Amino acid sequence: MKEKKEERKRAKWRKFCPKCGKQTDEFFDSLCEDCFRQGITLLEPQDREVSLNVCTHCGSYFKGKERTSIEAVVADSVRKAIRKKYGSDCAVEITGLRSEIEEGERRARVFLVANAEIEGVAIEERDEVAVILNRETCERCGRIAGGYYAGIVQIRAECRVPTDDELAAAEEIAYSSLGEEDFVSKEQTLKEGLDIYVSSMDCGRRISRAIVKKLGGSFSKSQKLYGRKDGRDIYRVSFSVRLPGFKSGEVVEIGDKQISVEKIVEGKGIEGEDINTGESVFVSKKELMRAKILNPKY
Ligand SMILES: [Zn+2]
Ligand SMILES: [Zn+2]
Repeated sequence: MKEKKEERKRAKWRKFCPKCGKQTDEFFDSLCEDCFRQGITLLEPQDREVSLNVCTHCGSYFKGKERTSIEAVVADSVRKAIRKKYGSDCAVEITGLRSEIEEGERRARVFLVANAEIEGVAIEERDEVAVILNRETCERCGRIAGGYYAGIVQIRAECRVPTDDELAAAEEIAYSSLGEEDFVSKEQTLKEGLDIYVSSMDCGRRISRAIVKKLGGSFSKSQKLYGRKDGRDIYRVSFSVRLPGFKSGEVVEIGDKQISVEKIVEGKGIEGEDINTGESVFVSKKELMRAKILNPKY
């Protein structure tokens, strides 16, 4: 008797979903969970299309001037669209990003799974976003094509000509010091060394610093007014890298003579000994420019 009474009491408080009529105790936005889920669409049709620039030369993707990837742009725009609709603090997670570039490379399709928590309910939606690829030439490629450079790194050595090995090492250091936006526009081998034409002053400085750190010596900077653009002076900057000169203990070869370096006479040349005759010799700075080190000591 008592049990029946309890049941009646509970029934009195039973609640129903106004949409489907199902009995429920939990309501989400006044609906049962199923009806609430059905009413949610994370992405609207206008959220399923984004555009992006692609460089036809290097294949890089850009949003504005920033280098990016198709997946990153899509994930970002999907996240923003969901937060715009359901609140900036809505937890969103994008997974399973996969893109397919369509023939002609003017469009791409990106597949993804969007997860968001809305009113405490975890919603998962599989989506497809169309990406319009605007084909362009990026700034970097445009500059490369135009032979642009902003600085020259001049690799020389004190009182001598850098060895082929040194120049090869310097070249390698230069390329490995390039940042994403940097490039080498030209290289010129001269009888006194190597000139590397680079895209920016910062890049020239970075290369010079790295060469000196690895091969020794020092570098200095000088700039020349090149022209004006938008009311500003444009400079071209040269970095003069001086690899160390001869060191005592090194053996240099000049013509058919081999000379052991004993003393460096600053700005003038070296004093040394001809290792074949034992004779003391002085070699002038000018003559040293023809010399080759046989046992370089870095
Ligand atoms: Zn319902
Ligand atoms: Zn490019």
